[in-house]
Amino acid sequence: MDFQFTEEHDSLREMVRRFSETEMRPLVDEAEETERFPRGLFKRWADLGLLGARYPIADGGAGSDKISDCIIREEMARVCQSFAAVWSAHTHLGIWPIWRAGTAAQKRRFLAPALRGERISGFALSEPDGGSNIRALRTQARKVAGGYAISGSKTFITNAPIADFLLLAARTRPELTAESISLFILELPCRGVAISPLKKEGIRGSETGLIALEDAFVPDDCLLAEREGNYPVVLESLVENRVGVSANCLGMARAALEAADRYAHERIAHGRPIGQHQAVAHRLADMAAEIEAVRWLVYYGAWRVDRGDLDPATASKVKLIASETAVKATRDAMQILGGNGLMREYPVARFHRDALVYVIGEGTSEIQRNIIARAMGHLGGSR
Ligand SMILES: Cc1cc2nc3c(=O)[nH]c(=O)nc-3n(C[C@H](O)[C@H](O)[C@H](O)COP(=O)(O)OP(=O)(O)OC[C@H]3O[C@@H](n4cnc5c(N)ncnc54)[C@H](O)[C@@H]3O)c2cc1C
Repeated sequence: MDFQFTEEHDSLREMVRRFSETEMRPLVDEAEETERFPRGLFKRWADLGLLGARYPIADGGAGSDKISDCIIREEMARVCQSFAAVWSAHTHLGIWPIWRAGTAAQKRRFLAPALRGERISGFALSEPDGGSNIRALRTQARKVAGGYAISGSKTFITNAPIADFLLLAARTRPELTAESISLFILELPCRGVAISPLKKEGIRGSETGLIALEDAFVPDDCLLAEREGNYPVVLESLVENRVGVSANCLGMARAALEAADRYAHERIAHGRPIGQHQAVAHRLADMAAEIEAVRWLVYYGAWRVDRGDLDPATASKVKLIASETAVKATRDAMQILGGNGLMREYPVARFHRDALVYVIGEGTSEIQRNIIARAMGHLGGSR
């Protein structure tokens, strides 16, 4: 294991931190209150080169690496996980498979404008009857002249209410097998597609939708790679993104520790700052130690992505530990803030609500444990 941050990484972190503090933070309260994402951020992200960090220059990206991608996520999520979640659904879930498997024409038409912030994307996989069990998805794509007619439903889809296109998974054959799942680029608006916004407890400043599809027409050239049966691309995409969202978790956990640490210095109870009470000090010490461990794990995972040898079990270990630590750190911060932990005037309850999203989304903690256990030869897996 041999990795370290370069000068470019350090200056990227500094730039994203400054941008997040000065341009994102002032937008947070209104986005949380209205549950609307401030779309102008896409232009700023593009201007600053933040949308394509992980993609090659030849494809319209910035030509840096996964470590840079994780630095951006960490610093943005430290200020606002809602916005960082929108960024993640767009820069990874909606377009990574197009970059990985799309035709040259699909990259020109969808990937390039997405990296310029001109078109917003998202990824529609989960269904009301198929969340953890991806293979149970029922949305059907029926072959018709010149394309496919897609019918079914998708739920919990980040960015759906604001997206210009969605990468959508549907069956091109009736059997409930992985091989019969194909990926489509669904341009919006589209006749036969109705999107209803969902109200959420966490990441309220991101927009999430329920999608009903009834014979929605997608032309042949919007079938990913113009080839049916792309399930392995979905899996590859999800594995890499488990490291990505772990960097978001690191950002939220850090934000919680910073808020709690500050408060413990300032708040006086029983005649002294609460950080002088051992129970509070030890809680802070545990938070600091656990977050430090997550930092190493996240950047180790990113380094493995950059080397091209990240395996699914390692990605799941990173995501399991990072997401559970974010939930614990944000909960600990609420406890340290006492009554103020529940007040909207302080952001720690928001950090906690937001952290809960990643023990569910991108594969629940139980699913991460299943993947890790299977790689160990348990639960029907093989060594
Ligand atoms: C805010 C938010 C944003 C999201 N964004 C997107 C998005 O952009 N695109 C998208 O496609 N999806 C998205 N999702 C969906 C998310 O990926 C699913 O919610 C998640 O995969 C869990 O699926 P489910 O909700 O159907 O839960 P279920 O699969 O019904 O699981 C319910 C419970 O049962 C447990 N469980 C299920 N199966 C097993 C098993 N085999 N072993 C042990 N325990 C099990 C789960 O761990 C969980 O605790 C989002 C979800 C949220 C909350």
